[in-house]
Amino acid sequence: MTGLNAIWIVERRQEVGMNDFEREIAGMGADGLYSRKIDTLQVNLGLRCNQQCNHCHIEASPQREEMMEWPTMRLVLEAAKKVDVPFVDLTGGAPEINPYFRRFVAALRQEGHTVQVRTNLTVLLEPGMEGMPEFLMKHQVRLVASMPCYLEENVRAQRGAGTYEKSIAAIKILNELRYGSDSELPLTLVYNPGGPFLPPPQSALEQDYRRELGQRFGIIFSRLLTLTNMPLGRFRNELNRQEQQENYMRLLRNSFNPKTVSGLMCRNQLSVGWDGTLYDCDFNLALGLPVNHGAPDHIRNFNPEDLRLRRFVTGDHCFGCTAGSGSSCGGALV
Ligand code: SF4
Ligand code: SF4
Repeated sequence: MTGLNAIWIVERRQEVGMNDFEREIAGMGADGLYSRKIDTLQVNLGLRCNQQCNHCHIEASPQREEMMEWPTMRLVLEAAKKVDVPFVDLTGGAPEINPYFRRFVAALRQEGHTVQVRTNLTVLLEPGMEGMPEFLMKHQVRLVASMPCYLEENVRAQRGAGTYEKSIAAIKILNELRYGSDSELPLTLVYNPGGPFLPPPQSALEQDYRRELGQRFGIIFSRLLTLTNMPLGRFRNELNRQEQQENYMRLLRNSFNPKTVSGLMCRNQLSVGWDGTLYDCDFNLALGLPVNHGAPDHIRNFNPEDLRLRRFVTGDHCFGCTAGSGSSCGGALV
């Protein structure tokens, strides 16, 4: 057997063990399936939420009881220090509901980390949240807020009756605190499609949001991110109910854009679940797929050297990140 034949056989064996997504990107350079660094630690503080949106990939709701405890938060603080991570992104559920939320944010800020919170806006009006907007402002927490459309009927269809009005009211409170106008207090809004289709171009939609929300309510924001709905959780249930699962997966696969691959968020971030389990991203968390390929899969065993260049865990859902303009927690990729 020649050397070239041997290499070909090894490569074929590796390919056979790959899923469709891995086969699609494996040939795009040696680091195709590997992360590069950890510059964002995304921390899921729990699955409880005051809302129960029909597109929620994590299936959060007021009935969920999973919540990150303080000892796990302490391990996250230690890990963030160890890797000197510049950016900590708090998500949920509604992260503000976690009873240790304020203590955790204050500790992260004290350690010098930039903190971002993914808020659903309406939670800021719930009982027990008194003073929360002022707390966020005082600690210069950056906000990323779900606002799936500038039209009331589309928000109501995804998030339930009354959510649009409450979201507008919350943005007004934040605007009064200079969120959206002060560069130290960014307020980023997030759009996601109201059904099984890809988002429109991010920059054009941002102009529409600015015009419509400005004219109707006089509210302002820093920027708009567009996200693709992942075929997971309640959105997947909805696809199944409408018998659209196959069509949607076909759309995602057929829309594969190789230019998105270098920007996949699993290349530079690590996700910590409410119980301390480590994931390549929030979507793998929703699927219960921890980091693998030999990397430590719990925050108590956090080791930057073993995690920084890990091979990430993929599946068909990953085509949601590479379709069209791409999608990530930071919006479109190209
Ligand atoms: S999508 Fe966000 S706001 Fe809606 S239920 Fe899920 S976590 Fe809560
Ligand atoms: S779903 Fe997660 S692991 Fe898959 S490509 Fe997207 S960020 Fe990476």
